[in-house]
Amino acid sequence: MALVVQKYGGTSVGNPERIKNVARRIIETQQAGHQVVTVVSAMSGVTDGLIKLAREVSHAPTEREMDVLLATGEQTTIALTAMAINAMGHKAVSLTGAQAGIVTDGFHTKAKIANITPKQLKQHLDDGCICIVAGFQGQTAEGKITTLGRGGSDLTAIAIASAIKADICQIYTDVDGVYTCDPRVVPDARKIEALSYDEMLEMASSGSKVMQSRSVEFAKKFGVVFEVRSSFNNNPGTIVKEETKGMEDVVVRGVSIERNQAKVTVLNVPDQPGIASKIFNTIAAANLTIDVIVQNISTAGTTDISFTLNKDDLPKAQAALDPVVREIGGGLSAQDGIAKLSVVGIGMRSHSGVAAKMFEALSRGGINIRMISTSEIKIAVIIDEAKINDAAKLAHEAFGLGA
Ligand code: ADP
Ligand code: ASP
Ligand code: MG
Repeated sequence: MALVVQKYGGTSVGNPERIKNVARRIIETQQAGHQVVTVVSAMSGVTDGLIKLAREVSHAPTEREMDVLLATGEQTTIALTAMAINAMGHKAVSLTGAQAGIVTDGFHTKAKIANITPKQLKQHLDDGCICIVAGFQGQTAEGKITTLGRGGSDLTAIAIASAIKADICQIYTDVDGVYTCDPRVVPDARKIEALSYDEMLEMASSGSKVMQSRSVEFAKKFGVVFEVRSSFNNNPGTIVKEETKGMEDVVVRGVSIERNQAKVTVLNVPDQPGIASKIFNTIAAANLTIDVIVQNISTAGTTDISFTLNKDDLPKAQAALDPVVREIGGGLSAQDGIAKLSVVGIGMRSHSGVAAKMFEALSRGGINIRMISTSEIKIAVIIDEAKINDAAKLAHEAFGLGA
């Protein structure tokens, strides 16, 4: 008998028929002789719908109330899934994040899991029950409802798998696994059989939203091996695990794209110590996450500093930087309509020429590179958003990733 944690995403539980499909799959797993804990997301579109509702009653709802609201999405699904299983004649019980013992810090809308005490969960499992846990949510030590950031049900599943020392952790979604690129963008993308935590992490944090990046970080930290697979068939999926020998032979594992980026340039600032620190401390104090940073060479004692961030954060960044820019003397320019293309692979550590190959592919497509950033296992470029799909196809082809 194995202890199995499964997670079903929004599309997989998107309507009553699909919830019944998930219920059948869970029952089959139990009937194969296993104990099952299932984490479910809100039905597809529900979280976005709740966010829209909130905006209709308030311009600036508090994050505390946002969490109370958003947590209801997953609560609907746990009850419906448990009901469906019960109606099929099997024992299931629904648990909110708090009931599953998930304790978080107090950073509403992006809380971090502090610890898990799965007492109730274990009792129900011992009673022969299937446990259906609400993803994406937890509770502070003081009892305040929190959520774990968009896509956070992945994190719930991985954290529970770690806490109860599950034998198997399966992330069921609407694609057969992790592909060499989003198959909706590059139709000939191939399913990857296995990839390392580091590759999955770089792909997830550079736009491959098939897994929430924080959940991959958690899996790496606690050594939770997981499989990404489809809830609509029984095909084997993609295993994500610690790097093994041979993984490095593949130079580029996958291509990621991230739309909705914006670029801010602070112009003509004095090229002297303390200026960059002032600019980026201001950004950090506004709780904004930035990505690629580029500083120009200095001319006549002044320089330009550019960085990218999510387009939605642009107004907040401009408002925060305005007084600072006035104080240090300079200008501010902002531009949206840009996107990021990344190629990822641990093989890059030991192979050269990856950047050259990527830039050559983009140049063949007449695509202009605006900014470049690299890590040990990733090369990313900022380009016009209108060209991002073409760029992804060109890079995918250049590295021989297609079927
Ligand atoms: P869920 O609701 O199950 O959590 P998500 O929508 O969060 O599902 O993630 C699945 C989607 O991720 C797929 O439908 C696919 O369009 C997208 N995706 C982006 N990059 C990749 C990739 N490299 N491999 C597979 N899917 C990807
Ligand atoms: N329902 C949440 C979201 O849409 C969490 C999740 O689906 O993982 O982001
Ligand atoms: Mg998801």
